[in-house]
Amino acid sequence: MTEGAHTTERLTLARLPSGVELTTTVHTYRGAEPGPTLYVQAAQHGREINGTEVLRRFHDRLPLESLSGTVIAVPVANPPTFDRVSYTTPEQLDSVNPNMNRVWPGDAEGSLHQRMAARLWEYVTVADAVVDLHTGSPDMLPHVVYREGDERSRGLAAAFGTDLLLSERAGEDAPDEWHRRGFEGKLRVAAADEGLPAITPELAHNKRILEDVVAEGVAGLFDVCRYLGLLPGDAPEREQRIARNHLGQVAADESGLFRPALGLAVGDEIAEGEPIGTVYHPTTYEPLQEAVAEQDGILYALTREATVTAGDQLASVALTREKP
Ligand SMILES: [Zn+2]
Repeated sequence: MTEGAHTTERLTLARLPSGVELTTTVHTYRGAEPGPTLYVQAAQHGREINGTEVLRRFHDRLPLESLSGTVIAVPVANPPTFDRVSYTTPEQLDSVNPNMNRVWPGDAEGSLHQRMAARLWEYVTVADAVVDLHTGSPDMLPHVVYREGDERSRGLAAAFGTDLLLSERAGEDAPDEWHRRGFEGKLRVAAADEGLPAITPELAHNKRILEDVVAEGVAGLFDVCRYLGLLPGDAPEREQRIARNHLGQVAADESGLFRPALGLAVGDEIAEGEPIGTVYHPTTYEPLQEAVAEQDGILYALTREATVTAGDQLASVALTREKP
């Protein structure tokens, strides 16, 4: 019996106009025994760094001698946005799509993001499951998104183990907004189209390393490894709430200052018509909008950044589902 091996590779993702090559590190953990392959990446939105910290700890703790199969991990999938601590790249770098998570599976002869995605896609296609680590906005409940009706992806999401799982309709089943926003180009969606179980954990806040969500992410990744048979043991059975990712979120109708309703917290069950907060005029104090939930469900995001512009998202409510 061998002990397993960890190797790293410096991968060139694309070339910048100056000729500078954009590179990133790909970690490969090969177990002592054969088994499935898991592809996991973080920071394809560069400011979402909790996933990068999750992968660093995973690296430190992974017992290679107990691993059956292979884990491929990319801690920084999108270096240009990482350096800018941003979600997207400026037009100078990608005039086609500033958001890398709209271009999968990429194109080796396309724009910067398309090329970067195409390079990483080579690693995705040899995998048996995909985990794309993201973080949400401030005051978002950690959750895992998977494709509605896809049992294998739901199993992977349940194994990851956040309290809330959100199903998202895709393709023909999806609402217009899903198509309009280019969601078919998400890594998770492109991977699921290839028949791979795929999930997107959203680990709370960006820009900061938050201990509790990083710990949740590390535990989730190890449980995913157990679920897939990469590590011995089973992912524990959990009580989880399942809801549908609802795209028609509560938005600001007017610009001003937003004051969330007192006592409201992410994770709360909320009823249609229930107050979410007030947008008011900061100089006249005139209330401009009494924002309310548009449906019954679970409040999973509530903005705490008070200065809002008409159209900004104030809150997100997921539709509770009886059935997975
Ligand atoms: Zn993201």
